Amino acid sequence: MKITFSQFDLKLKHTFTISRSSRDVSPIVIVELEHDGITGYGEASPSGRYGESVETVSRFLNGLDVSRFQDPFQLEEILNSVNSAAEGNTSAKAAVDIALHDWIGKKLGLPLYKYWGLDKMKTPLTSFTIGIDKPEVLEQKVREAGDYPILKVKLGGSNDEEIIRTVRKVTKKALRVDANEGWKTKEAAVEKIKWLEQEGVEFVEQPLPASDLSGTAWVRERVNLPLVADENSIRLHDVPDLRGVFDGINIKLMKCTGLREALQMVATARACGLKIMAGCMIESSVAISAAAQFSPLIDYADLDGAVLTTNDPFDGVQVVKGKLMLPDRPGIGVVKKS
Ligand code: MG
Repeated sequence: MKITFSQFDLKLKHTFTISRSSRDVSPIVIVELEHDGITGYGEASPSGRYGESVETVSRFLNGLDVSRFQDPFQLEEILNSVNSAAEGNTSAKAAVDIALHDWIGKKLGLPLYKYWGLDKMKTPLTSFTIGIDKPEVLEQKVREAGDYPILKVKLGGSNDEEIIRTVRKVTKKALRVDANEGWKTKEAAVEKIKWLEQEGVEFVEQPLPASDLSGTAWVRERVNLPLVADENSIRLHDVPDLRGVFDGINIKLMKCTGLREALQMVATARACGLKIMAGCMIESSVAISAAAQFSPLIDYADLDGAVLTTNDPFDGVQVVKGKLMLPDRPGIGVVKKS
């Protein structure tokens, strides 16, 4: 079993701004896992929020020794070893996890959704993300999202009202809001959420900083809109504590170390009565298609990372009028563009 990797710079259609950061290019690391003449693809999209960068991913992958494993079907053992190699490094771990799953699907000649017994017709609609911007750019972005029935609007700054008013001027579509921990007090969060309810928003993601779980519980008692945890829902062990504080969790492969743990989070969230969303970072079709494979199990999808870019090096899951369309290709279902 051999792992190689290379950096790729995903270019963004628009400067992508959320409450804590802004960028035009998003560097990712593509992993290739080779064994028995088959190549499995994986991807890390490192996030500074979780202490990762292309450098930390490269360092982690360079330090991995998978040569003692003879067979990618030893997935559990391999991933336990990858997970305990170092703390954190969740996107680097996800890259290995995705590549292993892709390899196994290819070896068996099965798309992962089929291997897991899922119905590809049950993939949810994905929202299209509108980052924070000036009114004229926002209007343009909302128009470009013409085919998507659901928009996810980034808030959490000082001009939230202006953003929502601008979006509402152009469209009556279903809106979801992501504050990315941007509201600094619980009182402010309650006020914003009550206002957003009147604007026809469906739910609010991560209103307060992840460190303020008790504040979030306080907010939840005072608002009607469901609250979805993102920065509070990193890995499997986070899920039980979110019961009673949030109404749902946002699972991202880059936070939870990949597909193996994502499926465990799905089961745990269900047992805790939590709704499930699958989200993404800015990612190529490799990581997006991997997440789309388990999307028949979830309630809400926000898997638009690849469509926000202009130079995706892979073909994978397609989005047709917001609906995730899984290809009939084995593994995660991607092919390298020639
Ligand atoms: Mg989020």
